[in-house]
Amino acid sequence: LPMFDNLFEVLWLGGLVVGFAVRSRHGRRYRREPRAALQSKETPLDRILTVSGSFGFLLPLVHIFSPWLVFADYQIPVWAAWIGVAIYAAGLWLLWRSHVELGANWSPWVEIRESQGLVTRGVYGHIRHPMYAAHVLWGLAQPLLIANWIAGFAMLAVVLPVVAYRVPREERMLLSHFGDAHRAYAEGTGRLIPRLRGRS
Ligand code: SAH
Repeated sequence: LPMFDNLFEVLWLGGLVVGFAVRSRHGRRYRREPRAALQSKETPLDRILTVSGSFGFLLPLVHIFSPWLVFADYQIPVWAAWIGVAIYAAGLWLLWRSHVELGANWSPWVEIRESQGLVTRGVYGHIRHPMYAAHVLWGLAQPLLIANWIAGFAMLAVVLPVVAYRVPREERMLLSHFGDAHRAYAEGTGRLIPRLRGRS
């Protein structure tokens, strides 16, 4: 296939398809089951950041299917690209598991909806933001798979502000809604990286 510079762009595109498949069921359910929002922390900046998040994967698509970004290409040693594949696979696995565990509690926004429970099982038993962590892993893997300063780093550039802006507000909201249950949960887990010491 002449439009692909190499195998790693094909693998990246395969991951994008998997990522969309994992997300799409939850998007459809979210729209199908309108439940009243008990708390909503959605701000205009949230909307701007979420919409601009699409550039994280749109710019790689531009790079794969057009010559427009080739001026910003670089070289990646094959061993580094394979490390990228491993990070990408770990990110996709985490994305899948976190969607399975969060289930109907998933929302594209920072909000508490009717009949929402506090999920503390599975990957949520180790870190409190596995879905955001999955996006960070994707962002770290992408520059190792897409050898381009713009397309490669696009995901990391859009994901880091979203995570930095959302995590503290989401945690305050969950704490105010779930109270002691969330306090106990937060004690035994890390935000994006598992705690090294065991639960006390
Ligand atoms: N930050 C989480 C969830 C992202 S989806 C992650 O990275 O995995 C965003 C929605 O998830 C928010 O509306 C929030 O209310 C909900 N949420 C976050 N953590 C939760 C938990 N432990 N249990 C239930 N809902 C949660």
